[in-house]
Amino acid sequence: TLLAARLALEHGLAGSTAGGSHHGRRAAGGGFCVFNDVAVAALALKREGTIRRALVLDLDVHQGDGTADCLTHEPDLFTFSMHAEKNYPTDKVPGDLDVGLPDGLGDDDYLAALALHVPRLLDGIRPDLVFYNAGVDPHRDDRLGRLALTDEGLRRREAYVVGEVHRRDIPLAAVIGGGYATDVAALAARHALVFEAMAERA
Ligand SMILES: [Zn+2]
Repeated sequence: TLLAARLALEHGLAGSTAGGSHHGRRAAGGGFCVFNDVAVAALALKREGTIRRALVLDLDVHQGDGTADCLTHEPDLFTFSMHAEKNYPTDKVPGDLDVGLPDGLGDDDYLAALALHVPRLLDGIRPDLVFYNAGVDPHRDDRLGRLALTDEGLRRREAYVVGEVHRRDIPLAAVIGGGYATDVAALAARHALVFEAMAERA
């Protein structure tokens, strides 16, 4: 993730086919996550002076409690999480902006909710770097999601996020986050969507 962030700063768009361990907290792991790669990378780049401000856009269906916990004393490392409100974790850690969605939300309502926040955050914060947790567990076939996005909805989401960030000339580092469908081929295709969206922009 740190390398992906450095490559994003150099080339504009980069991603890791892993990462997004957003339940890893400062003191302990949780929810399949040991170390919080995005928080570590953001802190490392800030402390070495490579970036001043970063925005974490976390669209995994679960709240980014670990990232919020790790970055709670870092006002210049802004955490945004949009997730299914009733989903894991029950003891959410408030981030800088949390949007909890109702169960069963479909493509159009989800994308409308996203569009309320992404442009405003990018223009307001003007980050030097965006970390994008592109979890595909909002999909309707996901075992651990509670939302109802389709493959096409996820494709539209990735095109939207990548497009909004890239057209502002802000570097974007993407990680894959969660995804728990039993059809592994379909799941892999969903994780590939963010890379396809970046490739179309590159
Ligand atoms: Zn998740």
